[in-house]
Amino acid sequence: GSESAFEFDSRKSICPFCGVGCGVRHGNGDKATGWEGSVNRRGEVCPKGVAAFEHVRSEDRLVRPLVYESGTHVTAPWDEALDRLESGLREIVDEHGPEAVAFFASSSCTNEENYLVQKIARALGTNNVDNCARLCHSSTVAAMVERFGAGAMTNTLEDVGDADVFLVCGANPAEQHPIAFQSYLAPAVDDGTTLIHVDPRDNETTGEAAVHLPVTPGYDIPLLNAMAKVIVEEELVDETFLEERVAGREAFEAHLEDVDVEANAREAGVDPADLREAARAYGDADRAAAFTGMGMSQHHCGTDNVHALINLAVLTGNVGEPGTGINPLRGQNNVQGANDVGARPGDLPGYEPVTDADARDRCGEVWGFEPPAGPGRTQVEWTRSVGDDDGVRGAVVFGENPAVTEPNASEVADALADLEFLAVIDLYKTETATLADVVLPGSSWAEKAGTVTNTDRRVQRMRPAAEPPGEARRDLEILQSVGRRLTDRDLESEFEYDGPAAVFDELTEVTPIYGGLSYEEIDDGYQRWPFPEGADEGTAVLHTEEFANGDRRTELAPVDHVPPADDLENDQLVLTTGRVLEHFNSGALTRRSGTLMRLRGEDVVQLHPDDADARGIEDGDEVRLSNARGSVTVSADVTPTITRGTVFTTFHYAEPLINVLTGDALDPVAKIPEYKHSAVTVERA
Ligand code: SF4
Repeated sequence: GSESAFEFDSRKSICPFCGVGCGVRHGNGDKATGWEGSVNRRGEVCPKGVAAFEHVRSEDRLVRPLVYESGTHVTAPWDEALDRLESGLREIVDEHGPEAVAFFASSSCTNEENYLVQKIARALGTNNVDNCARLCHSSTVAAMVERFGAGAMTNTLEDVGDADVFLVCGANPAEQHPIAFQSYLAPAVDDGTTLIHVDPRDNETTGEAAVHLPVTPGYDIPLLNAMAKVIVEEELVDETFLEERVAGREAFEAHLEDVDVEANAREAGVDPADLREAARAYGDADRAAAFTGMGMSQHHCGTDNVHALINLAVLTGNVGEPGTGINPLRGQNNVQGANDVGARPGDLPGYEPVTDADARDRCGEVWGFEPPAGPGRTQVEWTRSVGDDDGVRGAVVFGENPAVTEPNASEVADALADLEFLAVIDLYKTETATLADVVLPGSSWAEKAGTVTNTDRRVQRMRPAAEPPGEARRDLEILQSVGRRLTDRDLESEFEYDGPAAVFDELTEVTPIYGGLSYEEIDDGYQRWPFPEGADEGTAVLHTEEFANGDRRTELAPVDHVPPADDLENDQLVLTTGRVLEHFNSGALTRRSGTLMRLRGEDVVQLHPDDADARGIEDGDEVRLSNARGSVTVSADVTPTITRGTVFTTFHYAEPLINVLTGDALDPVAKIPEYKHSAVTVERA
């Protein structure tokens, strides 16, 4: 029918996948092509980017609202679906109060959309709003906010190339952030920058590394503490920086006295000589830039892992100058922005704590209502609370798929099914939408306008190349309808906007770090935050004279090793998970791309030849991975590129659903679950 006949024009937009933020537009046939964007300056794109229109055209697209009736989903007119959403949530709020509902924002949707999701939650009277950064970098943000006052890349892709050393921890940018790697990191390595790679796998990034430290998952702190010890022992610290910008040196050095470099290296599974070499290279460098990814953040000590890395940068004065810093590599095209604009249970837009009365007043003046003062539940906390007397009973999930992406996934799916009311806004009937009372057909990246914020804080504009198919609607319109219906009648005007530019204007008013940004001036370029009102431009390198929190000094933070939550029993191995070049997150988008599925159609588990031999497993055999939480079967890729004792799979496939195996032990500060270390029994199936 006409509803599946997509016609695309070639307006400039931004790639919907990773946080690099390449400029893409519709090209020939089914393909996307790059334009000379602010990041991909020569118009380069990776295989995911080229395939970016394929999931848009998928026959699975929802084209009408669905409601659940007598055991099945049936199509319904928009008004009926929205009525159900309104009454479903209102009944719960009336009976149990606003804390009984929760909202799930989306790091693959625009700033304007995420801003509206958090505003709806707060208008309803709850701070229960979160996004999937909870699951990827919440620990990074927590540590960086505590130490520096800002939870984003301290530097930019342009200036990190000035570094003499790259220290890449728990990240594989060559495959996960390919254009950033090819365009900014690899050329620097070709020109002599030394790359140190800390990762249990030998992957494409390791291919460019001078030193590889194949750390056992969960042992980053012993490794980084040992590097700190070498740097102090060999007097590679930056005395001037320590004197002028750092506090707590004595206590930190006292804490290092107990650190035994050789013992820590062995505990972390790395060669002590290699560890010393890495520490010397980092400590000796004039400028060293550190990068951090989910291998660091997704542990129940994720916040402390990042503190341990920050200690190295602070000791050596690698903060506040080009070619230095702590640079988290963000996974989704707008995970930075979803957080910046306040889709966080503890923070209003711009990371202003909900507990701060002045910040609440400032929002209240613009919004016409005051946001609630008590921090809300994080997403793992609310799914766990379902069934409790004071737990969450109703939820709206916007463009996310928690039934696949959360740890201990079988229990999460049960919790979502147990909700009294669940509404989902999505492109497809995802594993989560299957459990919903109401499913609203939203718009893909190619059908919307708005801004997204990439990994190095540049705010860029997306432009629609097509209309949503069938009766599907633009997400911003859907959220405005939901907002108008759920808030008090006399606040109806709070959700009247004449398009994304009007929402953007309002969000710059309540988000101090976005204060000077202008939708019009961004045009097809970018503006970077922080861009305080009245400034000439956004700040590239942060923390130059003082830290973002206004302090001249930051404190060194002694941290101790925290053993992983799962004990290894009998001959269990450590399961760690990650991404590959061809797929993206839960795979809801990339599994709907013919090209990407041809490139990599199924998951495999990588295991070391010694571990395979000990279990009578050969390359290509079906193997069962199991633990108390569940069991999955997947074929074996026997390879020495994975460190002994550890097995690796991706989290891109619903079949097999790896997250039935992952544990939900949470970091006490950031509440991020420990995806990167799960004990599993590995045997031939
Ligand atoms: Fe898209 Fe990231 Fe690939 Fe660029 S590097 S094309 S943003 S997936």
